Amino acid sequence: MAQQPFTPPERLLLGPGPSPVAPSVLRALSLPTVGHLDPELFAAMDQIRANLRAIFGTQNAATLAVSGTGTAGMEAVLCNLIEPGDGVLVATHGYFGARIAQIAERCGAQVTRVDAPWGAASDPQAARAAAHGKRIRLVAVVHAETSTGVRQELAPWNALARELDALLCVDAVTSLGCLPIEVDAHGIDGIWSCTQKGLSSTPGLAPVSFSPRAVERVRARRSAVQSFYLDLGLLLEFWDAPHGYHHTISSNLLYGLHEATRLVLEEGLSARFQRHERVSRAFLALARELGLSPFVPDELRLPQLTTLRVPEGVDDLALRKRLLLEHGIEIGGGLGALKGKLWRVGLMGHGADERNAQRCAAALGALLGTRSEAHSVRGQ
Ligand SMILES: *Cc1c(COP(=O)(O)O)cnc(C)c1O
Repeated sequence: MAQQPFTPPERLLLGPGPSPVAPSVLRALSLPTVGHLDPELFAAMDQIRANLRAIFGTQNAATLAVSGTGTAGMEAVLCNLIEPGDGVLVATHGYFGARIAQIAERCGAQVTRVDAPWGAASDPQAARAAAHGKRIRLVAVVHAETSTGVRQELAPWNALARELDALLCVDAVTSLGCLPIEVDAHGIDGIWSCTQKGLSSTPGLAPVSFSPRAVERVRARRSAVQSFYLDLGLLLEFWDAPHGYHHTISSNLLYGLHEATRLVLEEGLSARFQRHERVSRAFLALARELGLSPFVPDELRLPQLTTLRVPEGVDDLALRKRLLLEHGIEIGGGLGALKGKLWRVGLMGHGADERNAQRCAAALGALLGTRSEAHSVRGQ
């Protein structure tokens, strides 16, 4: 029998990413492919860089998109800015902070890791104490920790990095397009994100930005960057005029990012941030009506990702499977120690919409209701 083309199921993506892709972004992605050295593509790339600067809140010349997902962006920043033997301070408060520490170690860094409990934010005072007496050349922290739903204040980390005379690096994989970042105002030297969360394109590119101070650090390296693919100097030879060949970047993914960032700026950053705030508050209120309780205190809550405790006696996997197969809604489960204990509901980018919040809460209510009825029948 002839093989049929694959038709993806209809899903409402309300997990920690990917988020729903706007129709105009999907259309952009499917436009005819052009060469990676086409002058018209370079014009679109210049616009993408300008858009990314506006969304990051930076004037950084070295702002571009790396081929790969958020983790590629993380590796790109770390492998360019870390040399073997460098002291690196990583503040972790969840799964992704731990990933930064792992990559820094692979870059040959002497890593000092300061772990905050999952569900709390990282503590700059604890980090300051841990750095005492050490030569720290780079400090890294996660802005929006997607494993727990915790938001990290950036200002204290800028102060700490300046005190230590270190570069400040920030994971903005889930915050770009959902939360103000203000790279320049926060003294951030290296930052990475992705295209499939707050920007609502497909996975495949990782926006990154390097401050002039960071570019200086790369230029002054004693050793070559161990990754050819992610070497900033080589990437800039492609992204900057006269645009030499480095690798065959996907023109289609660039069309998607062009449209996604255009949509962000058309909406306006503050309107977009307010929309995320409004929708997540609406969702949280509905979740509370169902008897669900948030995992993090209000002041640490991420507007783009709500984490809820799985109620006592509910089978996490079974419920999420029914949510997906019967209601077409994807949400995330807990990672690591929070496996089976947490639901992660992303209302991000194009998905941050009151109707999605209502649809998700109604489906959760129906599934939890079924269960409590079964419970009471059994109890009789
Ligand atoms: C999703 C995520 C990553 C990893 O991104 P990928 O696109 O899966 O490679 C890194 N950090 C944070 C905070 C994330 O949410």
